[in-house]
Amino acid sequence: MNIAEYSGVWVFIEVKDGKIVPVSLELLGAGKRLAEKRGVELSGILVGYGVKPLANTAFEYGADAVYVYDDPIFKLYRTETYMRAIIECTNRHKPEIILYGATSTGKDLASAAATDLATGLTADTTILDIDADTGLLQASRPAFGGNIMATILCKKHRPQMATVRPKIMKAMNPIPGRKGEIIEEKISIREEDVRTKVLEIVKSATKQVRIDEADIIVAGGKGLGDAKGFGLIHDFAETIGATVGASRDAVEAGWIEHHHQVGQTGVTVTPKIYFAIGISGAIQHLVGMQNSGLIIAINKDPDAPIFNSCHYGIVGDAFEIVPMLIEQFKRV
Ligand code: FAD
Repeated sequence: MNIAEYSGVWVFIEVKDGKIVPVSLELLGAGKRLAEKRGVELSGILVGYGVKPLANTAFEYGADAVYVYDDPIFKLYRTETYMRAIIECTNRHKPEIILYGATSTGKDLASAAATDLATGLTADTTILDIDADTGLLQASRPAFGGNIMATILCKKHRPQMATVRPKIMKAMNPIPGRKGEIIEEKISIREEDVRTKVLEIVKSATKQVRIDEADIIVAGGKGLGDAKGFGLIHDFAETIGATVGASRDAVEAGWIEHHHQVGQTGVTVTPKIYFAIGISGAIQHLVGMQNSGLIIAINKDPDAPIFNSCHYGIVGDAFEIVPMLIEQFKRV
């Protein structure tokens, strides 16, 4: 590989329900700063069906150009088709950096594309910079349960890739009417070549904000005892307009669906306020929520590890404390 052929910073622009997801706008801001340091252009890569007009939003948020794959084959996200678009576009235009949001789609797509492109990927990045001496992307992320920051460089392969946690980077203030270049791309595969078919999408009945976008999360764990006890978490969340989160043990007990799971094998969240109720504070849970603005723990065991990682701790029985909180908040 001749890495000198690779130039430019790209952002994968994720679309959900016809709109660019917030983390992609944040990444255009972060990508712009990296592109300026490298003295190169910032481009978006936009994949979907009926998505071309969204390129204008990307320009307003800092993209100089957008590669657009607009085709019915991309109507619903499938790793196989989206990955093909990333790979074909990368091989054709050779960007030096590609950033993805660390959403379910971004994580799935980036890891699949990195494998096929035989390049490095730093997952769940929280700091991005350019090394002044080498010009390499410095992607930093918490490691060893948040005890150190690991800065990862991809020296010998291109593109350098990273998934970036939502709500960490700052989007630019949009410049209405800002223009850029739309580069329309064609994909080489046809529907009959695709092995995966999406038969149905079952939307969650909840009206709550998505857990990775929520400002307030009320999370419950095994300490709630059973599915009925976990109902207290739903009641409290509803009272204060929060989204429900859960530990893996609560999910595995079948009290709540997996997409509410916070932690290493669940979602990484950064709300302004995180309530951890009946959650012991295992490291695998902490890595998913320790960057929350304010952590409030309720646990009846004064020695529970969660008390080492929270801003406020209430030692007590959740079934006594939470109903009192609900009552107080209902009065406000
Ligand atoms: P427990 O550890 O059983 O804690 C329950 C807590 O509730 C206790 O502290 C107890 O004192 C308290 N309690 C009991 N009754 C009450 C009451 N009435 N009022 C108040 N407090 C009460 N876990 C995750 O959460 N997310 C992950 O993504 C994740 N990924 C993992 C990946 C791997 C590879 C492995 C090995 C584990 C992973 N785990 C994950 C599991 C993790 O190690 C813990 O087992 C899990 O987080 C514990 O869940 P918990 O805190 O709900 O339960």
